[in-house]
Amino acid sequence: MRCRILLAAVLALLVAVPVLAEEPPKEARAAWQNMQPDIMIQDEIGNPITGIRCATLDFGPTENPRAPEDLDAWLQENALEKFSVNIPVSVHVIYYTSGSRTYGSVTDAQIAAQIAQLNAEYGPCGVSFYLHSTTRTNNKTWATMRPGTSTELTAKTALAVDPTNVYNLYTAAPGGGILGWSYFPWSYAESSVWHGTVIHYGSVPGGYLTSYNEGDTAVHECGHYLGLYHTFQGGCTEPNDYCADTPQEATPDYYCTEGRDTCTAPGLDPIHNFMDYTPDYCMYEFTTDQCERIDWAVTTYKPGLL
Ligand SMILES: [Zn+2]
Repeated sequence: MRCRILLAAVLALLVAVPVLAEEPPKEARAAWQNMQPDIMIQDEIGNPITGIRCATLDFGPTENPRAPEDLDAWLQENALEKFSVNIPVSVHVIYYTSGSRTYGSVTDAQIAAQIAQLNAEYGPCGVSFYLHSTTRTNNKTWATMRPGTSTELTAKTALAVDPTNVYNLYTAAPGGGILGWSYFPWSYAESSVWHGTVIHYGSVPGGYLTSYNEGDTAVHECGHYLGLYHTFQGGCTEPNDYCADTPQEATPDYYCTEGRDTCTAPGLDPIHNFMDYTPDYCMYEFTTDQCERIDWAVTTYKPGLL
């Protein structure tokens, strides 16, 4: 009898203590802590403050390939039909109230416009999205979370919907004025709650962030979620972003500098590409190789989305 009670107690404990997702490595957490502001944005009443354009970092097991050895060969072998994926999106609005004001509100219409923007830009890659569900949470600690923290893990553990099969998109008012971040598909197992994207709520269509309020922060961050690197990855050194049709770029462009050409390799800097750092009005394209790379990354690391 005593044995049975003990067994019941052990089982109860196992149910009560959820399996915690793995923390990002120490180096990544240090890099987030040392991340310097690189843009000017506004606070809610229009005062200029510094922000961080993108806080996505590449970590995860080194043995997980970041690219196929030969993308064309991989496509010939694996992509027999035209790549097509329709991804359910669970949107989690995390907001807070202070005095009589509410920070972090996003309307249903803005959520619909954000999904529409994702569809407009990823359509040519064969990737579409639809709204699966919406949650709204009043929690200042969660709303002001920063990447890779135990706060982020707690919020995501509570809110994430089926990360294997669903894209979780969190809107928040991140500490440090960060516009957004994601986790590359090779960083964690596909079922990990870390997956998904956190964006600044002011970056959704019609949001209050000047120059960044057409919904392209989510497009950019979703690119990381689907395996795309920045166009300036590796600077003027191959293999850069593993996409031959995005010309080399030494550093990010923050301003939409027409004719910018920072590397001697052929081609002007891809300032209109969603994976650069230009303002929303400037970015409008993905390339064929980027689309094909998404095909590889999803098939390899996020097959639950297919
Ligand atoms: Zn980025």
